Amino acid sequence: MDDAAPDLVTAVIGFRQWRLRGDELWSFRAAERWSRGLHTAHCTAHAHAAPANGCTCGIYAWYSPAPRGASAMTPDLVAGAVALWGRIELHAHGMRAQYATVVALALPFSWGAKRRRIRAAADALEVEAVPARRLKATALAHGDVIPRRMRPPDTTPNKRAAPGEPAPARLYAVADGYRDRQRSRPGDHAA
Ligand SMILES: [Zn+2]
Repeated sequence: MDDAAPDLVTAVIGFRQWRLRGDELWSFRAAERWSRGLHTAHCTAHAHAAPANGCTCGIYAWYSPAPRGASAMTPDLVAGAVALWGRIELHAHGMRAQYATVVALALPFSWGAKRRRIRAAADALEVEAVPARRLKATALAHGDVIPRRMRPPDTTPNKRAAPGEPAPARLYAVADGYRDRQRSRPGDHAA
């Protein structure tokens, strides 16, 4: 295991699901609407900067897309990819980040109203809406996934207690190249 903590030079790509309300994206765990542009994590429990080690704050994302069928079965669930940067805390299956922006949404298999709503959401976010099988490739135009060797091991498989202490999450500082690129886009704002 490589314990070095390199600064990544590009944004980190992660995967999330949101609840679709009309054609708006809302977080599951916080009553937060995701609109176009920059999202900054805030801790609602403490005064510290988010994410903080030992806390639950930060913007959540998985390393890999959710299984393709997972959001297709539910009328108000939408899967997508985010670019993450700033402070990023790495866990076994996902991350908690300081900054995020949506980079792509996954279209459902069906051609009904949900598909139209996701297209409308993607238009408002100014991101692509692509078939789920193309989500990862589309997202990789905006950054890189965290290499496996940098991810902490899963010390609690199947939620059973594992011997020894769980490995602490790791914090990585990530270069701000993505934000600089975003800033050069005409009419972009950081809100
Ligand atoms: Zn916190």
